[in-house]
Amino acid sequence: MKTALITGITGQDGAYLSQFLLEKGYEVFGVVRRSSTAEAHDARLRFLGIAGRVKLLDGNLIDVSSLIRCLREAKPDEVYNLAAQSFVMASWQQPLLTGQVTGLGAANMLEAIRLVAPRTRFYQASSSEMFGLAQEPVQTEKTPFHPRSPYGVSKLFAHWITVNYRESFGLHASSGILFNHESPLRGIEFVTRKVSDGVARIKLGLARELRLGNIDAKRDWGHARDYVRAMWLMLQQEEPDDYVVATGRTTTIRDMCRAAFDYAGLSMDDHLVIDPALFRPAEVDELVGNAAKARVRLGWAPEAGLEEMIREMVDADIKRLSSSQKQA
Ligand code: GDP
Repeated sequence: MKTALITGITGQDGAYLSQFLLEKGYEVFGVVRRSSTAEAHDARLRFLGIAGRVKLLDGNLIDVSSLIRCLREAKPDEVYNLAAQSFVMASWQQPLLTGQVTGLGAANMLEAIRLVAPRTRFYQASSSEMFGLAQEPVQTEKTPFHPRSPYGVSKLFAHWITVNYRESFGLHASSGILFNHESPLRGIEFVTRKVSDGVARIKLGLARELRLGNIDAKRDWGHARDYVRAMWLMLQQEEPDDYVVATGRTTTIRDMCRAAFDYAGLSMDDHLVIDPALFRPAEVDELVGNAAKARVRLGWAPEAGLEEMIREMVDADIKRLSSSQKQA
């Protein structure tokens, strides 16, 4: 039986990856950041019915001693570094924290692995936000980076330190450059989930409008369940490497949003309000990835389409909001 240690286990990808690895027979450990509020941090793990099946360890990416303790306790074959301050907009409000967690945090984990568990395989959650002001119309592993936010800049540091530790110390360290990936477990602050939640609220009569910023931006959206499979495949390869993971299709926020309203039988034009306060200081206008390398080397291909995913998200939000209304 293999053992995995996941940072960011309470997030969207951590939950889906845990489920995937448990199905493969892994023992799954997760690093959880302590917080003084008694919030239900395992809500996503409970949503997937696996909360009791993963072992949570206290730790924090900015405290390397805690990472060493987690590695000693879990003795993992594979480490997946998914933890980050991951919301782009918030990264302008807390740029230094974002750098410490999202950037230096990856270096801390690599350093911990180098010191106490150098045979452990390492996955770094890199991001299409590193392409930012995209230098090529379709982005591949060879496209130059030009990040547009403190988040993107921090992810770029984490990406290059992963490559560097592979080249410097021979660690089995791989980086997945994942384009946006969504699901009903996506955080409410991201645009797809904000839309599915907003549409569900309007449908149920709980709200009348949905406020968005720049709806002309384009993203290449996949389903998180498909994308965690790619993470695992990277660590099963003999040689570590970097891979773009994307669907190859790009859609405007406007069209994604319209699909959600249409599915709920509502007119987008009756409810959508553009709020200039939600525009970003620097925008990533358009992303679309070419995952040919992942397809050829890993045998990976996405299964879920955007429309199907949006329907799943709207349905899940209607169900959640309806049951919380009944309880009230
Ligand atoms: P990102 O690609 O990691 O920044 O993912 P997001 O889901 O946060 O944002 C995707 C795009 O949606 C960006 O271009 C945002 O500017 C745009 N967008 C427009 N309105 C909103 C909004 O209200 N919330 C968020 N999060 N993004 C919005």
